[in-house]
Amino acid sequence: MECPEQKRLHAELSQALRVLVELQGSQIAAVKLGDKRMTRFEEEIRMALNAWQSSRRAYLQHCAEHGC
Ligand SMILES: [Zn+2]
Repeated sequence: MECPEQKRLHAELSQALRVLVELQGSQIAAVKLGDKRMTRFEEEIRMALNAWQSSRRAYLQHCAEHGC
């Protein structure tokens, strides 16, 4: 059964995860280069984590309520 809303929410969730993984990769690369400005990444990662968590909440809530 295809639910467009579920697909949309899942795409958002995947995108949020991708952003998080990319940020983490950038942070690791910066650490290897000796970049000391870690607070920049900490803040961005925290925001990306929040975005991912709210996407996940919306997705799970939709699945629970809609039963799709
Ligand atoms: Zn649905």
